[in-house]
Amino acid sequence: MPSHRPGLYIHIPFCTRKCLYCGFYSVPSPSHGLVSAWLSSLKHEVLHYRHSFAAFDTLYLGGGTPTCLPSEILSDLMEWVLKHLPFSSDSQFFIEANPGDLTKEKIEAIKAMGFNRINVGIQSFCDPELKFLGRRHDATEAVLALQRLKDACVESIGIDLIYGLPEQSMDEWLRTLESTISFRPEHISCYELTYEKGTPMWEMKKQKEIRPIDEDTERDFFLMTDRFLEEHGYIHYEISNFAKEKRFISRHNIKYWQHVPYLGLGPAAHSFCGSRRWWNVRDIKTYCKLLEQGKVPVEGSEVLTDEQILMEYVFLGLRTVKGIDIKRIADIPGATETIYRLEQQGFFNIKNGTAIPTLKGFLMADTLSSILLT
Ligand code: SF4
Repeated sequence: MPSHRPGLYIHIPFCTRKCLYCGFYSVPSPSHGLVSAWLSSLKHEVLHYRHSFAAFDTLYLGGGTPTCLPSEILSDLMEWVLKHLPFSSDSQFFIEANPGDLTKEKIEAIKAMGFNRINVGIQSFCDPELKFLGRRHDATEAVLALQRLKDACVESIGIDLIYGLPEQSMDEWLRTLESTISFRPEHISCYELTYEKGTPMWEMKKQKEIRPIDEDTERDFFLMTDRFLEEHGYIHYEISNFAKEKRFISRHNIKYWQHVPYLGLGPAAHSFCGSRRWWNVRDIKTYCKLLEQGKVPVEGSEVLTDEQILMEYVFLGLRTVKGIDIKRIADIPGATETIYRLEQQGFFNIKNGTAIPTLKGFLMADTLSSILLT
């Protein structure tokens, strides 16, 4: 459930190898020396923020691939973080995992470190699709990993999926969704494949080796996903996110969408507090060097004006079922009237002064935000 307490994000900047579509910062197959240098720098960064934030109620270990690190490194990191940063007793600890890393021993080790929410990057249960994405696991490993997590009684299992691959048929996507719900995960994220500049997939698109799906097909995938998961009891609470019950809505991600403070540690991590946002350097060696010199590894920062905060509030509110408090947008010329007009057209439901996007609203979220803000 939502909370106003701060969240902590730690970026693990390593992967076993890079997937073809991935724009996140990570170094493939890092040497032992690089991992040690990063860990020691991260510990310094933790100390820097020791007295800066009130007790966190979420910790999210993302990346990169946290589980590609040996359990001893992860556990060393966790001990340090829990010793030096404050956490409330009801904290939720999330970790992103790659199916190929989830041996029985690894799962037990992760649980022993305190992680109660494991998000697995499954992406698809179809081997040719996994191959196309450049993932290092196959469908058999995906199934095995999820069975092991089930056997280990992990409190909350999250499955991340990607749809809208070129040539992917609706039936293939439906099969992936069916396999997904057969595990009854507590949380499911369904992201449309995007083409990030600088990735091999971007290059393939540029060279016309692949052809992205068109807008109508995007819409069909989105509607089918919503229909299928809602029919199976999942709550569609954000454009790309579904929860089995309200209590499994990601407390951590909600902080990003509701301007709740969060601290991001590690290379390329972003932070937000008050109206200030800042981000770390996107290079491990520079990150380590700055911390060695006793400096913070911050590359840039910005202070958001009230107007920018309001714009983000509208933009983000349109992406979740929390919606927009109509009173908050009263000062935007014409916005209140527009909201009521859009309600008539089926883009919102208005309840107790809050405009909650419908499925039609989710589909048009970006357009609605520009309509309301211009
Ligand atoms: S495992 Fe995740 S972070 Fe690593 S390259 Fe693949 S998508 Fe990116």
